[in-house]
Amino acid sequence: MYSIRLFKIMDIPIELHITFILFLIVIIGLSIMNNNIFWAVLFILLFVSVVLHELGHSYVAKKYGVKIEKILLLPIGGVAVMDKIPKEGELKIGIAGPLVSFALGITLLIISQFFDININGNPLLYTLSLLNLMLGSFNLIPAFPMDGGRILRAILSKKYGYLKSTKIAANIGKMLALAMLILGLLSMNIILILVSLFVYFGADQESKIVEIETIFKNIKAKDIMTPNPVYVSPDMSIEEFLEFMLRHKYFGYPVVENGKLIGCIGINNIHKKEGVVRDYMQKPVIVSENTDINDILKKLAYADRVFVVEDDELKGIISKTDILRAMSILELKEELEH
Ligand SMILES: [Zn+2]
Repeated sequence: MYSIRLFKIMDIPIELHITFILFLIVIIGLSIMNNNIFWAVLFILLFVSVVLHELGHSYVAKKYGVKIEKILLLPIGGVAVMDKIPKEGELKIGIAGPLVSFALGITLLIISQFFDININGNPLLYTLSLLNLMLGSFNLIPAFPMDGGRILRAILSKKYGYLKSTKIAANIGKMLALAMLILGLLSMNIILILVSLFVYFGADQESKIVEIETIFKNIKAKDIMTPNPVYVSPDMSIEEFLEFMLRHKYFGYPVVENGKLIGCIGINNIHKKEGVVRDYMQKPVIVSENTDINDILKKLAYADRVFVVEDDELKGIISKTDILRAMSILELKEELEH
């Protein structure tokens, strides 16, 4: 990520993303060309407001022991990059940002009724107050990736669990994005189209990350393998092997000789009924009991099943269907535990 670090507030670095800087240059350029610096000043103050909004989140998050890596400013808004979101603190962390925006908006609105700074005939404080109120309201929409999505998840997760609540909030976000996209296309509103894409991909990403993290957290080969798998000897004839497969109904088997895994054979390896298992078996893909699920998934991209071997001993077998079944069961378990 290309970004420039400005300074630190509350020990949190504030960074400008390269796209933000380009956007800023364009706005300032347009302002100068049109002989109207109002928009440039407003833009800068709006992003001061965004930083304050993010600092609101960060302030509360810090109380829950979250480390804030930085506050990053993008043309579309700000992000407080946190090392984690604590499940208990999410409601308060989520509300804190919009609260700051509303407090700023209302304060500026009241001040602007008595006193305002006019630039080229535009009331600066009044406009800024409206923008802050909009920023607070937009973020309260109960859908990911807005703050409202986090708030909704925090409320729902007491009843439905973290994973299901994330999916609900993400789906609302996607539906909302679709509605915005249709509206944007109908009215040819570029900003609305861009915001809809931002919301869609933000929602999608959030739910995927949470799904993978929640379901697969700390899951190892030994947790999902089928232990003590049936195996065949390399000297078994293919005719016997066909009978054996019919009895056990798996598509693939480990080949074991003198207690050691020497190969694997499956329905796809057999082309003739002559010969023995040894003639057709192939090299097995091996993992250990503590291989984590991400590495297993990578290996399963090239093989139908992996064999779990520890101290030269065959402990279990994991197939693609095992992973899918384990995922469904773990998902159900996650939901029932809440
Ligand atoms: Zn926020």
